Amino acid sequence: MANSYDLIVIGAGPGGYIAAIRGAQLGMKVAIVEREHMAGICSNWGCIPTKALLRSAEMFGHMTHAKDYGLTAEKFGFDLGGIVKRSRGIAGQMNNGVQFLMKKNKVDIIWGEASLSSPGEVVVGPVRKKPMEPQHPTPKNVLPPGTYKTKNIILATGARPRVLPGIEPDGERIWTYFEAMVPDTMPKSLVVMGSGAIGIEFASFYRALGAEVTVIELLPQILPVEDGEIAALARKRLEKRGIKFLTDAKVAKVDKGGQGIVAHVETKDGKTQQIAGDKLISAVGVVCNIENLGLEKLGVKIERGVIVVDDHGRTSVPGVWAIGDVAGPPMLAHKAEHEAVIAVETIAGQKVHGLDKSKVPGCTYCEPQIASVGLTEAKAKEIGREIRVGRFPFVGNGKAIALGEPDGLVKTILDAKTGELLGAHMVGAEVTELIQGFVVAMNLETTEEELFHTIFPHPTLSETMKESVLDAYGRALNI
Ligand code: FAD
Repeated sequence: MANSYDLIVIGAGPGGYIAAIRGAQLGMKVAIVEREHMAGICSNWGCIPTKALLRSAEMFGHMTHAKDYGLTAEKFGFDLGGIVKRSRGIAGQMNNGVQFLMKKNKVDIIWGEASLSSPGEVVVGPVRKKPMEPQHPTPKNVLPPGTYKTKNIILATGARPRVLPGIEPDGERIWTYFEAMVPDTMPKSLVVMGSGAIGIEFASFYRALGAEVTVIELLPQILPVEDGEIAALARKRLEKRGIKFLTDAKVAKVDKGGQGIVAHVETKDGKTQQIAGDKLISAVGVVCNIENLGLEKLGVKIERGVIVVDDHGRTSVPGVWAIGDVAGPPMLAHKAEHEAVIAVETIAGQKVHGLDKSKVPGCTYCEPQIASVGLTEAKAKEIGREIRVGRFPFVGNGKAIALGEPDGLVKTILDAKTGELLGAHMVGAEVTELIQGFVVAMNLETTEEELFHTIFPHPTLSETMKESVLDAYGRALNI
């Protein structure tokens, strides 16, 4: 039957499109339904365009320190329109790339809004959602709305910004990540509500280009999921760059007056203060796209706004699977991709390891970068693990000094009895590229002995990783 598939994936983000490709590789007849943008939030409005913006900010930052490197730059500056244009161009390139991958893998693209009428049937209606602008052109040769039969359905519908009542984004003065990614003019001052990865990345970007930035965080620690020591060091560095932080603080309301906003902030000690800015970026997390999918009618179990899945992506309804943001935290693109492969291989009857959330790395691409995997020191202690902690500062690393990046720390958490690496936490230059070494190590259940006997190339920042493990045993060499 023309309208019949082995697998229909709903949503073409990193979860969905990877599921479609893996299904096609395993010989399945696959279709993917998308209503807005191939490659999802990640490539169009998330991971990739923000990294493009941050790259511009980073290069501008280097230019301001040109003298430190013996360079002269008489005149330099930035063109905000050019920075945004580059970021949008890269998002478009990623979107095109996924269209190409669908074609290459013979995955049909159905354009429209999908819902489930039964476990084996997907109804695709016309697009009702207003797309975010600027919008990349709809792919060519897509299949139209209609009813499509399938043996399996993977839900990969992602998430959207969380909105706090009374602080609704208006696209003008109260921004979400969408508007923050495509500014027309450079705000002179900004209030960022929320200090998770998204909030901190925007704070870092706008500060690098000269905005006065204040970040308000409800919890006592910025970057709340990170190791406390690393988050504190990151905060110090960000403060040195001029970003102001208010922790244990809540934005109670936001007034719009004159050209900007006034955030009314209440701190835990009962004090209140008003912080004015041109814009407020609301970065208080995301909510899953679970509405209008027909999930309640089918009996797909949802808890606290997240589709309940097992570690292979099975929902409570046989034949219906869920992956990515819609299947719960950590809401990260690489977690979505990994879940996609696990779910599809399970559908194909293969025996695969389920998702181990303790080994999902997390990265924040601000300046300085932050990266981590596994248990924090506090968590390890909380669950009663006996641990050894190693630390190595970048100032003891030749490459960091040569790069002009001596501020940074690698912290490792090892089991005191077995030497198993339980967690790694980093702040400093390029640590988002380094963390993968520890992810592989943890996946292989590496112990301190194996890391002692691993040769790290010199001079590289990666040497700080080995030194950190050595330090946990009082054997660090370069400090
Ligand atoms: P999405 O990428 O959200 O894709 C879901 C797709 O489903 C969308 O294209 C949507 O249009 C479509 N859809 C929804 N409902 C329907 C329907 N009914 N019918 C048809 N189509 C539908 N993660 C990282 O790992 N690293 C980062 O650096 C990073 N940076 C980020 C920066 C920002 C500003 C943001 C917002 C997010 C960032 N993330 C990052 C998170 C990352 O983008 C998400 O975790 C990832 O996109 C989730 O992938 P997904 O496939 O689950 O969903």
